[in-house]
Amino acid sequence: MNDKQKKILEAIKESDHPMTEIVSRFGDESMKDVQELLKGKLLEIVHGDGYAAFETLKITKLGIMYTYDDYCDVCECLPCDCNWGN
Ligand SMILES: [Zn+2]
Repeated sequence: MNDKQKKILEAIKESDHPMTEIVSRFGDESMKDVQELLKGKLLEIVHGDGYAAFETLKITKLGIMYTYDDYCDVCECLPCDCNWGN
């Protein structure tokens, strides 16, 4: 994960964001980062209902894990107890 993806994750961790807001805040290329985060299942899309049915980005449990510095994505332990991650 790159720095930008981490920043996007952190922003979405604070509160759910519509896709359009992420793009206006992080720039057009952030679409790619969002796609990658979605592919990695760190983010998910929820569809709002009613008149303003925007696609809202939500962080997943896995995504939250990734925002912790001592999360180990080698063994998926938090904090890392396998020493691979550090
Ligand atoms: Zn580990």
